[in-house]
Amino acid sequence: MFIVIIAGPPGSGKGTQAQMLAENMGFVHISTGDILRREIEAGTELGKIAKARIDDGNFVPDSVACEMIVNVFKTHTDTTGFVFDGFPRTFSQCGAFEEILIPYNTLPDIFIELKVPESELEKRLLNRNSVLPRPDDSDISIIRHRFRLYEEKTAPINEWYKSKGIYTSINGDGDVNQVFERIISVLPEKIK
Ligand code: ADP
Repeated sequence: MFIVIIAGPPGSGKGTQAQMLAENMGFVHISTGDILRREIEAGTELGKIAKARIDDGNFVPDSVACEMIVNVFKTHTDTTGFVFDGFPRTFSQCGAFEEILIPYNTLPDIFIELKVPESELEKRLLNRNSVLPRPDDSDISIIRHRFRLYEEKTAPINEWYKSKGIYTSINGDGDVNQVFERIISVLPEKIK
């Protein structure tokens, strides 16, 4: 089973690229943000816990994110691979992910960080909000708070994956298809 992680700040296009990659490879795309937004929509207990935090641009607790991932593996028992977007997001989630993967005898194969200048990210998020409104995209101070959280809590996990030898960064600025080509070009041979 192959595990690809697509990372990057809010607006970097990780959702779009993760979905394209999963379709291309026949893998399952898992976006923890999408799962949480569906739970909020459905008004579940998890959705209730998540709503205030997400709307304010904060993370849900690590335990909540990890439980979602445990369920993902219980649900998709016969896939050949996963593309994760939005998980792991903290050091604690990186460690927990390895534990979750023990029964499946696997580890992440590649971690791809999409890099995009912050001025471009702001433009993309405000534009996305005008097409598909989201409370956490509708206020510039919440958007900037998410950038800071990314820098403080998520970008440091690059070091974790660098130490495992699976970190790659990609220029995420440019056309969607161009960025996709760049991703395909860094995938390990065994996945292609
Ligand atoms: P973004 O483009 O802002 O990263 P996502 O759809 O990936 O958007 O995530 C939206 C929100 O969902 C995040 O700001 C956070 O509140 C919550 N979330 C998603 N994944 C996680 C996670 N692994 N751990 C904690 N919170 C998460």
